[in-house]
Amino acid sequence: MADRMVPLAVLLKREVTSEKIEKPDIFHGLANQSKKGEDFTFIKNECQRVSGKGISTFSVFALFDGHNGSAAAVYARDYLLNNILCAIPTNLNRDEWLAALPRALVAGFVKTDKDFQAKAQTSGTTVTLVIVDGWTVTVASVGDSRCILESAEGSLYLLSADHRLDENKEEVERIIASGGDVGRLNLAIGIEVGPLRCWPGGLCLSRSIGDMDVGEYIVPIPHVKQVKLSNAGGRLIISSDGVWDAISFESAVNMSRGLPSDVAAKRIVKEAVNSRGLRDDTTCMVVDLLPPEKITPFNLFHTRTYDSPSSPSVRSYFEPYTVEEIFEDGSAMLAQRLKIVYPLRNMFKLLSCAVCQVELKPGEGLSVHLGSSKSAKVSPMDGPLLCRSCQAKKEAMEGMRPSRGMRVTILN
Ligand SMILES: [Zn+2]
Repeated sequence: MADRMVPLAVLLKREVTSEKIEKPDIFHGLANQSKKGEDFTFIKNECQRVSGKGISTFSVFALFDGHNGSAAAVYARDYLLNNILCAIPTNLNRDEWLAALPRALVAGFVKTDKDFQAKAQTSGTTVTLVIVDGWTVTVASVGDSRCILESAEGSLYLLSADHRLDENKEEVERIIASGGDVGRLNLAIGIEVGPLRCWPGGLCLSRSIGDMDVGEYIVPIPHVKQVKLSNAGGRLIISSDGVWDAISFESAVNMSRGLPSDVAAKRIVKEAVNSRGLRDDTTCMVVDLLPPEKITPFNLFHTRTYDSPSSPSVRSYFEPYTVEEIFEDGSAMLAQRLKIVYPLRNMFKLLSCAVCQVELKPGEGLSVHLGSSKSAKVSPMDGPLLCRSCQAKKEAMEGMRPSRGMRVTILN
């Protein structure tokens, strides 16, 4: 420990010069026990972003839990990040980039779903995608793989949504309003069994990527939450339902406390499998965001002495251990999710489809507000604009045209 201490004089000097701890040290661990081979992960550290002020970096951690085959999970793993990044205008500074991210996540998820369905392959996938940029964490999710955050002082935050029909009444209402049927499997003798499912298709999730054999009101529009950690750091736990069906958020945090991220991930998967047996693919990623080691006076997650720093000068060097909530939107309405104002310096982007980024000739794009706004004042030219193909996708997601899926009522 002693050799990792920073002399107080150095800390104080940094304080005087207002040097901030701008970036955490990031450590991650991954563990998986496979049953069906349909869980996939994507980890990329030090992704480069070129801005006016040179190059800065961000990290990406994503979990895909496939169903009905693995094609959608593999496709999303390979293409989703690029589709998101292509929807962010170039030359933004870091703050603008982070502000543009929630909208780009929506565009990237919808484009990935649309492109995958165009390949006419069955299967679908949940997505929990985490982008860590400095102390800002942005999580976009569809389905029921969940991401939790434990802040440095030990508070728990759920950063993803739960799109299980059983757990989400709002989503059930949305699907029924869009023309879908929601119910349990109905045995011939009139007994209902199992979780709530959406018909046709019988999926028990309300959002996913893929699933072209299910109604199009099973949408790929992600819940997005953006938070900023204090420079005291925190721990993210991203797991598939194989973990969360077996152990609670609190027990995952408690059983892994004090362990390095790689050991923590293994421990969580082991406990989940031990308690329930290997019934499902069981995957866990643990990501620690720690104050940079070179200026860390304590070994945070190994000793937990951080909540009682002995020196007042050291204490004041750290910000309060709060987690600031910056953004959250889980609406399934594309018009609402794309309306976030674009930085004006990228006017040329206004002439692209807000979802797939295809260039639009003047007069070619259709307002995303068409049809979904109660106001009669919407002009077809009110941005953001969609190409005809993405406009058709939007109408299908909102139940404004018959779903392409076959309407078959099973066992009913
Ligand atoms: Zn488009």
